[in-house]
Amino acid sequence: MWLIRRGNLSTLTREYDLGMKSLEVHNQPPPLVDYNLFRTDPVLESAVVNEGAGSVTETLDLFGARVGTAEVIEWGYLANRNIPILHTHDQYGSRIDQVEFHPAWHSLMDLAITHGLHSLPWEGDASEFAHTTRIAQMYMSSQIEAGHFCPISMTTSVVPSLQMTESVADLWLPRITTRSYDPTFRPADKKSGVLLGMGMTEKQGGSDVRANTTEAFPVNGGGPGGEYRITGHKWFVSAPMCDAFLILAQAPGGLSCFLLPRWTPDGQVNTLRLMRLKDKVGNRSNASSEIEFEDTYGELVGYEGRGIPTIIEMVNGTRLDCTMAGASLMRQSLTQAAWHVKYRHAFGSALIDKPLMQNVIADLEVETEVATLMMMRLAVAFDRAAVDPQEAAFKRIALPIAKYWVTKQTTPVVREAMECLGGNGYIEESMMPRLFRESPVNAIWEGSGNVIALDLLRAVTREPDSVKAFFVDLEEFDDANADVRAAVQRAKDSLYNTSDPEAEARMMVELLAKAWAATLIVRHGDQDLLDAYSSSRLRGHHGSHFGTLATDLPIESLARRAIPAL
Ligand SMILES: Cc1cc2nc3c(=O)[nH]c(=O)nc-3n(C[C@H](O)[C@H](O)[C@H](O)COP(=O)(O)OP(=O)(O)OC[C@H]3O[C@@H](n4cnc5c(N)ncnc54)[C@H](O)[C@@H]3O)c2cc1C
Repeated sequence: MWLIRRGNLSTLTREYDLGMKSLEVHNQPPPLVDYNLFRTDPVLESAVVNEGAGSVTETLDLFGARVGTAEVIEWGYLANRNIPILHTHDQYGSRIDQVEFHPAWHSLMDLAITHGLHSLPWEGDASEFAHTTRIAQMYMSSQIEAGHFCPISMTTSVVPSLQMTESVADLWLPRITTRSYDPTFRPADKKSGVLLGMGMTEKQGGSDVRANTTEAFPVNGGGPGGEYRITGHKWFVSAPMCDAFLILAQAPGGLSCFLLPRWTPDGQVNTLRLMRLKDKVGNRSNASSEIEFEDTYGELVGYEGRGIPTIIEMVNGTRLDCTMAGASLMRQSLTQAAWHVKYRHAFGSALIDKPLMQNVIADLEVETEVATLMMMRLAVAFDRAAVDPQEAAFKRIALPIAKYWVTKQTTPVVREAMECLGGNGYIEESMMPRLFRESPVNAIWEGSGNVIALDLLRAVTREPDSVKAFFVDLEEFDDANADVRAAVQRAKDSLYNTSDPEAEARMMVELLAKAWAATLIVRHGDQDLLDAYSSSRLRGHHGSHFGTLATDLPIESLARRAIPAL
């Protein structure tokens, strides 16, 4: 007689009574569900507290418990297994240009939006730690499902660009901040809440948006908030079900930023044609499309010819979120790995008790904790930048460093974590393949590595105050340790002792990132982490791969930090 009971978590829950010894399942970990992603992540909690945002921990605690439930974890699996479908036409041949999502996607979106993850910094009663709270929450929810953070991120991030034209902001901001998820396809003024996307990339150029060929013609003189008609295309537009998009197009006065709603103000469907959905490596739950415009209604945001400075306000926000997403993928993959090796036995003992596995997990923990510290410090800078010029200057340079460093570290960390699960890590029923496929995207979109390194160079040459502010922040914490002091000096020297700054821009970012990471650890007050970081990342006692920490370090205790304590 055999009985197999499956709960709603079909891939994770198993209770076997097979009555046949050879079919008994043992030496596999229990399902990792119903755990609190905040309370089981001590570095996140202490980073929030150490950055002065202790007052928000209760909110994060509640959210962490919710996103770790078996129900939400299952939504993540379902939304990725049942990917969006584009419907360009109805059965009669009329264009409809709509995307169909699985109900699990809608549940994930609803959870994020009802918690204000798309709007916290812009709400009327926003807390002084709105960015910090939001980033910590996004970091937790993205661990469970990363695709839905894209429209959430874009909706939050477009606001500073919209605010450059009062009439546009007055109309759209109240619609964004309702905390109501309304996926219906109707004019925005008839909906209880809206989402916004963006389109910059065209076939002939993504990083170099000056190559955009889409054209915009003013109606009745145009000008900020005025009507334009737009013809052309965008090669990548994620989340095409959004209610409006910020796009770039060539106006008579040069490259400009426009808001394109899905419906025109007189209640007609606007002519945004969804041509195809991209068949992507990862980010499968999220729809990314190619769009064509034909005499499409748009409103100018900012001024003609000022498209890049206008939309860059949005890009700053999405780059913060890319940093968050990288850190989040690192943490979740390490959580999965540490959970597995805690329960999996081989050659007579649990894998976590093997010195070599401890070295691998500890090394991954070092990298992941640094990513979390950078993410939280940056989020706090976003909060303080509005009231503190030093923080605004610091943010200018810290943002490209964090975006570059964290998103590039993500794939190696996720790949090594996958290996900790052995063969199980390569099987689609585990979460690892999804995390792995997702891991490169944050380094590609919102400025690929070289573009980010060149952005840093631009800040160094054109905004020297940002460099000054950055080093003021670092030097406050570089006294404690000679290695840290030397790293900060090396980073400083790299900016000025160079014969070919463009060719050396990546090296500059790396040295700045390592110096910043080291001072963040000092600021965080964690001696074990500092010792491991100094030895491996600053003094070079480290091989080419993870698991090569020097053995005089507290490897076992660092490794055990990665295991979620339920
Ligand atoms: C899943 C996904 C979703 C996306 N969603 C959107 C979206 O919603 N809206 C949108 O507008 N775009 C979107 N994109 C596009 C994305 O932002 C671009 O692909 C990215 O900015 C790079 O542009 P590109 O593809 O044209 O590459 P290119 O600009 O051709 O760059 C190719 C490579 O050259 C490097 N490079 C560029 N300039 C230089 C230089 N001066 N020196 C040295 N190296 C350089 C880049 O770093 C990159 O490695 C999405 C992309 C993906 C993968």
